[in-house]
Amino acid sequence: MAATGLYVHIPFCLQKCHYCDFPSYPLRHLADEYLRAMAREAENYIAQDISVGTVFIGGGTPTCLASEELERLLALLQRSFFIAANAEFTVEANPGTVTAEKLEVLKAYGVNRLSFGVQAFQPELLAKLGRLHTVADVYAGFTLARERGFANINLDLMSGLPGQSMGQWRETLDKAIALQPEHIAAYSLKVEEGTLFHRQMRAGCLSLPDEETDAAMTAAARERLRAAGFEHYEISNFAKPGCRSRHNLRYWRNETYIGIGCAAWSYWDGVRRGNVTGVADYIARMLAGQPATAEREPVTRQGAMSETMMLGLRLRQGVSRPDFAARFGIDPLEAYPEIIAGLVRQKLIAVDAGRICLTERALPVGNLVFGAFV
Ligand code: SF4
Repeated sequence: MAATGLYVHIPFCLQKCHYCDFPSYPLRHLADEYLRAMAREAENYIAQDISVGTVFIGGGTPTCLASEELERLLALLQRSFFIAANAEFTVEANPGTVTAEKLEVLKAYGVNRLSFGVQAFQPELLAKLGRLHTVADVYAGFTLARERGFANINLDLMSGLPGQSMGQWRETLDKAIALQPEHIAAYSLKVEEGTLFHRQMRAGCLSLPDEETDAAMTAAARERLRAAGFEHYEISNFAKPGCRSRHNLRYWRNETYIGIGCAAWSYWDGVRRGNVTGVADYIARMLAGQPATAEREPVTRQGAMSETMMLGLRLRQGVSRPDFAARFGIDPLEAYPEIIAGLVRQKLIAVDAGRICLTERALPVGNLVFGAFV
């Protein structure tokens, strides 16, 4: 069986950031029980002999676990799945929560990629975001990771922040580039319901850059990162040659993956499955021998085709027509003749014999294009 991807959710953070709607909670004291619960879920897969080509431990803040807890987690993954010798093995890390001891544990268990949530290089912006780390923590964490031999590092950055100027965004890009990471993910802030920012916005006390500035920031990221030798390979993701995120490519190519932990999703055996989102609920279910699944949706052929188009168009190389035809028995141009013709007329996608891709001018309105395939 071809190797799949494995996502592992660690839902703990030291505190909640002001913009965050991810399933993450300041419940670090539940880590011991959570790992016991997760062991139960992972062990359910042992009998299936699943081979894994990419692992992504995300959150939350996986590195807020103590080094012994990280070791327990990694050991349980190792005994539950066949992790390929050449697997890409990523752990999300927040600056300020990495220590030499933790990095040594990660290294010993084959972790070969770190993803740091940096976001900004200005103390006042980090404070506005509710981030706990300092700019000095970014440099210290990055240097420590390099010293411990991590040769593949991603930095997450954010634009469109309250009070952020174009000058600050350029400074953030330049400082990130100067660290010479292998990968940069540059996202524009979206204010999500349920966050402090959302409440502040409704109360009229959140001052965000206007749409034009936000678009100019996104364009500046493309320009600066490309000039610094990064390939712009997905709407928000940039990589040095050979350093694209293999795990995230699985999502964008609509390939299979298994998710374990609360709020984790799987796409396996033609079914999308989502686990319960609450930490306590997840622990209770797993320790009582009940399934963690809260949502289960069989994916029809039609559904898989439209997801393959929507996700694949996020990639700059777009959707491969031969791969699509091999998977679904039909060329995308025959499956979506009117939608594709309309988008080509509007110059939002380009089609050649091999691929269908978003055009450069469609980058700011990508969501409109993806939505056309729903
Ligand atoms: S560190 Fe990340 S996951 Fe945790 S609260 Fe902040 S944004 Fe959310």
